[in-house]
Amino acid sequence: MRFVRYQSGSDSPRYGWVLEDRVGPIEGSPFDEFRRLNADQSLTSVKLLAPVEPSKILCVGRNYAAHAKEHDAEVPTVPLLFLKPPSSVIAPGETIYLPPQSEQVEHEAELAVVIGKRGRWISTEQAMDYVMGYTIANDVTARDLQYRDGQWTRSKGFDTFCPLGPWIDTELDAADAMITCHVNDELRQMSSTRDMVFNVRQLIAFASSIMTLTPGDLLLTGTPAGVSPLRPGDVVKVSIEGLGELVNPVAQEPEQ
Ligand code: ZN
Repeated sequence: MRFVRYQSGSDSPRYGWVLEDRVGPIEGSPFDEFRRLNADQSLTSVKLLAPVEPSKILCVGRNYAAHAKEHDAEVPTVPLLFLKPPSSVIAPGETIYLPPQSEQVEHEAELAVVIGKRGRWISTEQAMDYVMGYTIANDVTARDLQYRDGQWTRSKGFDTFCPLGPWIDTELDAADAMITCHVNDELRQMSSTRDMVFNVRQLIAFASSIMTLTPGDLLLTGTPAGVSPLRPGDVVKVSIEGLGELVNPVAQEPEQ
């Protein structure tokens, strides 16, 4: 099943489900008990929101060997975890703003795991019981600030630096899905999730050995090689085979 968060006209945001090119509301929560109502609107007639409101966004650095290599970095022997703030999340179609502090903002196409159940010290064997589904993320990064700061809070944390969506897919087989990123229809990144250094089970076990995972939390699983700078006027599209595509325009942040 595919779950979306959406807004119809002036209604409050709500969760819905997708049937082909249509959307219908659900009663209840997709993380708990729910009932599907009729898919009575076309997807194009509603505003899609980011599909979750996470309490935290856990990310993994250098989880594809070829990406570590393009930055002359070692492949980690334990997962290299960092956090993005929930305030960085934007919806499909919303604008990624290039902040004045950076001259090198880059896209990072990533598979995002949506946590469905609260847990700590989750074993690799049990890990998939805690996965509600998957969505698409773009871990937008100010690369110059990442190198300059030595840690990543600023470079990963700007508003609009976490486009997310368009939906949560509960049936994707994430073991071997192709991830691609196009900028203005030019292919920049392509790799299979098969090439992850640490797989989804291992990442959930590792992250939950540190902090409690709660429903709606996100785990961004790292980006393949091919990251490249974004310019004002670009349109960046992240696609994951079997899941869909996430498209966002790019603009310079307006002066304050
Ligand atoms: Zn990343």
